[in-house]
Amino acid sequence: MEHWLTKRASLSPNAIAVETIDNGTWTFADLYDASIVFAKKLYTTSKTNKHIGILSTNSIEMIVAFFACTYLHKPVVFLNARLTQEELAIQCASADIDSVLYSDTCEALTLTLPVPCYAFSTIKQLKETNIRLDETIALDDICSMMFTSGTTGKAKAVMHTYDNHWASAIASALNLGISSTDKWLVCLPIFHIGGLSTVIKSMIYGMPILLVEKFDETIVHQAIMERNVSIVSVVAVTCSRLLNKITNETYPSTFRCMLLGGGPAPKALLDKAANYHVPIIQTYGMTETSSQIVTLNHADAIRKLGSAGKALFSAEVRVNAQRPKEVGEILVKGPMVSKGYYKQPEATERAQMDGWFRTGDLGYIDEEGFLYVVDRRSDLIISGGENIYPAEIENILLAIPGVEEAGVVGVDDAQWGKVPVAFIVTSTHVKEEELLQFCHQRLAKFKIPKHIFFTDTLPRNATNKLQRHKLMERLP
Ligand code: ATP
Ligand code: MG
Repeated sequence: MEHWLTKRASLSPNAIAVETIDNGTWTFADLYDASIVFAKKLYTTSKTNKHIGILSTNSIEMIVAFFACTYLHKPVVFLNARLTQEELAIQCASADIDSVLYSDTCEALTLTLPVPCYAFSTIKQLKETNIRLDETIALDDICSMMFTSGTTGKAKAVMHTYDNHWASAIASALNLGISSTDKWLVCLPIFHIGGLSTVIKSMIYGMPILLVEKFDETIVHQAIMERNVSIVSVVAVTCSRLLNKITNETYPSTFRCMLLGGGPAPKALLDKAANYHVPIIQTYGMTETSSQIVTLNHADAIRKLGSAGKALFSAEVRVNAQRPKEVGEILVKGPMVSKGYYKQPEATERAQMDGWFRTGDLGYIDEEGFLYVVDRRSDLIISGGENIYPAEIENILLAIPGVEEAGVVGVDDAQWGKVPVAFIVTSTHVKEEELLQFCHQRLAKFKIPKHIFFTDTLPRNATNKLQRHKLMERLP
């Protein structure tokens, strides 16, 4: 198949591919030309490489470097720019990375990496090699690899074929539709699937993206208000920060929706968005499913508030449970599901069940077939034989005025085995008695946090997801 960027540049060369906040605009022809030139400059240093690492915060150079590697038929491993040098060194070794391309913003992180590292700007200064590039792709080939977010522990390298990315982009379009006036704001890191999948959609749909280096509520809010953004992908905490920016205004009519995923969506947040007339589309997915795999239709958004929706076209979802509405592990299937973790046959095998992918998440499906994600299996707290889902307690705490963030974990208890405790971040003074009283009215006694810790921040990863295992380390 013709390389998607080659195809796109021939179909709509003058359409905008990437817009940045204050660093110019690139058409698909610009992006194509830059990628081809970069590939020809990169050729000599990467000739013998198996995998090329890319270490960068969101930037146009990062996108060009990625496409250049695809033109050289070298799988790219996206590295998380928020890791330490030690963590990056481990990932370089485990993913067989032979060289790393990096942005100036990440230079300090490369100093002790055990492989040759080249700044994007260094490659740009090299001479172009006189080679003819093969501008085709094979759908079965590995296009990219990236590590899971490491929310529950050690991150795993997920392999994505071109086919996985293609299926994901098409399934998403069949759910959200593609409008000629779409512009998708990318403020999730490209080194995570939420960011990368939108870059790939842009090329396949011929849709512009507005690229933001990293999430900043002031910049993103202003961009939504002034730059004809139609879609933005967010996680709960960034969504909440954006809603806090809204005063009297409403979003422009060109704004279609916020695609909210990556973690539980607190009911209070969904209600708040509805009050502000901000359309939220809930979605469920993971690195292993190349982004969304279950999404709520626009038409059901209010009626099924809290649900992650139904499996996208060509995907399937079911819950490993005996009865309808019973909570069990969520299983998924479809062409967007990765073939596995790189060089981790056991972990890949463990995640399989009769041709289904075991997500490690718990949920249930209602009588109409809508999925509700309950929590991660590994975070389940079993207290005196009762199942407690931390997300349920976090949801209640987040509904209390003044509570901005909440994280719940289970701690050992001589009598009950485990009991829940909560960490919260507040914006105003809130008394512990008030919090507990609020919980008492809404939660069964065994779910009431046995202790509430007030803190300034909660541990989050690069996608702003709460890392509950790190909360455990903060326990006195
Ligand atoms: P790791 O696998 O390394 O622990 P991670 O699972 O957070 O990290 P990602 O692949 O980025 O890495 O995230 C996918 C996970 O995010 C899902 O498995 C699920 O737990 C959570 N998630 C995604 N969407 C939703 C949603 N709509 N509701 C609840 N949880 C969600
Ligand atoms: Mg995971």
